[in-house]
Amino acid sequence: MTLARHGAIVVGAGVAGLSTALYLQRSGLDVAVIDPLPPAGGASFGNAGLLSPDTAVPIAMPGMLRKVPGWLADPLGPLSVRPSYFPRALPWLLRWIEAGRLSRVLEISDAMRALHRETLTCWQELLGPELYHDLIRPSGQVHIWEGEAESPAMAIERQVRERHGIRTETLNADDLRQMFPGIARDISRGLLVPGNGYTISPQRLVVSLGERFQAAGGQLVAERATKLIPGDGGGWMVMTNIANRSTEHVVVAAGAFSRQLLDPLRVRVPLETERGYHAMLFSPEVRPALPLSNKSRGFGVTPMEDGLRIAGTVEIAGLDAPPNEHRARILVQHAQRLFPALRGEKVRYWMGFRPSTPDSLPILGPAPGRPGLHLATGHGHFGMSGGPPSGRLVARLIAGQAPGIDPKPYAATRFH
Ligand SMILES: Cc1cc2nc3c(=O)[nH]c(=O)nc-3n(C[C@H](O)[C@H](O)[C@H](O)COP(=O)(O)OP(=O)(O)OC[C@H]3O[C@@H](n4cnc5c(N)ncnc54)[C@H](O)[C@@H]3O)c2cc1C
Repeated sequence: MTLARHGAIVVGAGVAGLSTALYLQRSGLDVAVIDPLPPAGGASFGNAGLLSPDTAVPIAMPGMLRKVPGWLADPLGPLSVRPSYFPRALPWLLRWIEAGRLSRVLEISDAMRALHRETLTCWQELLGPELYHDLIRPSGQVHIWEGEAESPAMAIERQVRERHGIRTETLNADDLRQMFPGIARDISRGLLVPGNGYTISPQRLVVSLGERFQAAGGQLVAERATKLIPGDGGGWMVMTNIANRSTEHVVVAAGAFSRQLLDPLRVRVPLETERGYHAMLFSPEVRPALPLSNKSRGFGVTPMEDGLRIAGTVEIAGLDAPPNEHRARILVQHAQRLFPALRGEKVRYWMGFRPSTPDSLPILGPAPGRPGLHLATGHGHFGMSGGPPSGRLVARLIAGQAPGIDPKPYAATRFH
C-alpha cells in the first residue's frame, strides 16, 4: 500500500534529522520523520553535550600520524582500532591522514567556523526562548592539557583561533583550582573558551525538537527505511519495514547508518563510524561549574541535570561489533585522575556511533545525480553544534532559498 504523498521525508530522528525536519516544516512543506527509535535514540542521546560556536579545529591534524602508534599501544589511550576491522576502515583512514595536511586543515576550519558559529542562534530558533534557557548554558567551556610544552597540534589550534578571531583566556594552575575546586594538582594548563556552551541534557534537547515538530503538525513515524526507490514520474518511494511512503524529497539523516541507504543508489560517501563511549555518574562527589575537555586524553566532563557525564574516546570497529564497555570504565578512571574525590559509583555505561567523515565536515545538500535526494549526515564529533545550522542549510537548499553560507565545502561532490 502506498500512503499519501509527503512533501519531504526525513530518515533519522537524531539532531540532524529533526533540525532539518523542523526547518523544512517552517518553509511550508508537509514533513514526516521516519525512525524505528524515538527521537535521540542514537548518537544524539549520549554525547558530551558541548555546543561550540567557537570550535573550528578538525580532528585530523598535522603530526597526528606520529602519535597514532602510541595511542594504539596504550590501553587507556583515546583511539583504538579493532584489528579485524582495520582492512575495511583503511580507505577512510587514508583519507583522514590526507585531511590532516596544514593547508587543508585551514580550509576545513573555515567551513567548520561558518557552520558552527550559528549553532546557538539556530538552537534558539528551533526551541524558542523558554526551552532554550531551560536546556542550554552559553557559559563557556574549559580546555585542559596535561604537561607543560605546547605541541605542534596545539600551536595550529592557536593559529586557527587567531584566524577566526575566537576569544580565549589562558588559565594557570591557580585559576583552574579556583574555577574547579578539587581538580588534581598536576593540571596546570587550561584555556577558557567563553563563547562556547553546553546542554544539561542532550536527550531532552533533541526530544524537544521532536515535540515541537509534532506540535506543528509533523509526523514521527516509527518505521525503518529499508530502501529508497526513485519514483517513475519524479519523487521517491521510501520502502520501510511495513509500508511504502511516497514523497517529493527524501533527506538521509540516518547518522552512521546512512550508507546502508546510499550505497545501493551508488551515492558514494566516505562515512565511517567513530564509536564513542560515556560513563554517566548519577551521584557525583564533584560538580564542576563548566564543562572540561581534556585535550591530551580526548574526553570531556560535562555537568548535566542528572549527574556528571564523562564522554569521549574513539573506537574504529564498525557498526556490528558489540560495545567494549571497558573503554567506558577507562573514562571513569580518567575522570578520577582529574578529580581524585570522584568515587565513580551509580554509573551507566553507553556506546554510540559517531557518523564521521575523514575531514570532520558534514555531508549536506543534494546527492549527486539523484534529484530529490538530499543528505544531512556525517557530523562526526560535532553534531550537537553542527546539526541545527546544517538542518537550516539543507532546508533552505530544498526550498530554493538563499543558503546563507556557501554550501560547497559540505557537498558530497568534494570526495569525487
Ligand atoms: C561519546 C560522544 C560524545 C560526543 N560529544 C559531542 C559533543 O559534545 N558535542 C557535539 O556537538 N557532538 C558530540 N558528539 C557527536 C554527536 O553526538 C553526533 O554528531 C550527532 O548526535 C549525530 O547526529 P545524527 O542525527 O546524525 O545521528 P544519530 O543521533 O545517530 O541519529 C541517527 C538516527 O537515524 C536512525 N536510522 C538509522 N538507520 C535508519 C533507517 N534505515 N531508517 C530509519 N531511521 C534510521 C537511527 O535509529 C538514529 O535514531 C559526540 C558523540 C559521541 C559518540
